[in-house]
Amino acid sequence: MIKGSIEGIEDDVGAMKATCEAAVAGVKRSNMDRGQAFLLDFDHTLFDTDRFFWVDVRAAFARFAIDAKIWEESYGVVWPTGYSLDKHLEHLARQGWVADSVVAQLKGVLRERFADLRSYLFPDSEPFLKRLQTEKIPCFLLSFGDPAWQAYKVTGARISGFFHEVFFTAQEQAKAEVVEALAGRFARLDMVDNDPRELDRVKARLTQIDTFWISRVPAEALESPDPAVRERFREARGYATLTPEFSHRRCTTLDEVSW
Ligand SMILES: [Mg+2]
Repeated sequence: MIKGSIEGIEDDVGAMKATCEAAVAGVKRSNMDRGQAFLLDFDHTLFDTDRFFWVDVRAAFARFAIDAKIWEESYGVVWPTGYSLDKHLEHLARQGWVADSVVAQLKGVLRERFADLRSYLFPDSEPFLKRLQTEKIPCFLLSFGDPAWQAYKVTGARISGFFHEVFFTAQEQAKAEVVEALAGRFARLDMVDNDPRELDRVKARLTQIDTFWISRVPAEALESPDPAVRERFREARGYATLTPEFSHRRCTTLDEVSW
């Protein structure tokens, strides 16, 4: 009987403790989550993916005497399986374009060459993230693409620490779903992306979100017939000329993104 009572008290104390902890967590969460937050895209918004991949990664493979056309075609084959530099090299070896005996060595060369990707951040990316950090505005990274490949680039760019949370997704609607979930936690959300279709998907669900459509492509590069210029802005050019369904604030740098 006595034992039963003590157990009962212990249960009550346990329940009170749990209630208390939940309340504290709730307070912490509401302090942290009220107010404003930023949602940032990675490729072509914070990171110059075209210069990284289509200029420098391509050049690194070319130094191994891999034909440019073969390299590009094989990229198209490897990409849908979840891209990595190692996988691309392994695929080229299987196809006979790279000798098996040098694969390990070349992997090492690529790993070393692209270990630090900070130089591919746009010059205003880190200052912008620091500005948000100073003003204690939480920011979330919403990155579209193969999760492992996206994580490799974000880690290499050394910016993970600026984000409250990082979301990697390969599914089309997923960004809008993440934004929808965050919308319940913040009074105001601002989103910056170079892909107006992503901004459209979010706007279609949540009209109150401030959307910034950033284009890092200089106007003269959009119509340039020069193959080197076209290659330099290979992916970003395609986004810059889309016609969005909703209206978004347009900008060419993060310095123009104000709150
Ligand atoms: Mg992007």
